[in-house]
Amino acid sequence: MLSMEWLEKAACTEEDPELFFPVGTAGPAARDTAAAKEVCAQCEVRVQCLAWALKAGESGVWGGTCAEERADLRRKAQWSHAVRSARSARSDGSSPSSRSDRSSRSSRPDRSSRSARSARSAAT
Ligand code: SF4
Repeated sequence: MLSMEWLEKAACTEEDPELFFPVGTAGPAARDTAAAKEVCAQCEVRVQCLAWALKAGESGVWGGTCAEERADLRRKAQWSHAVRSARSARSDGSSPSSRSDRSSRSSRPDRSSRSARSARSAAT
């Protein structure tokens, strides 16, 4: 279970919860999201809050980010992890151009290569 002790220092405890859980992304919802992010910008536990939200997969504004921004951060982190893993495998002597690597790449399902492309485009 994820600890939420940091909530005791949260800057949003006296704010209207509706600001942090807007319905939609336009009009009043966009204004609420912007107002919530302003509160987050002053919060001393913003980093802990964002880390928690990234793990918990919550909706709404947490750690100064909306759900879409956190999804983007997760995709970028997955892409960075994939790049680090590939570099690590290369430094271990398992070059991507080696026979075994070529055969494992060709057996990968299309889904993973689409995910990698998606993560790569999100990272740019
Ligand atoms: S970062 Fe924002 S949502 Fe998180 S505890 Fe602070 S004010 Fe609340």
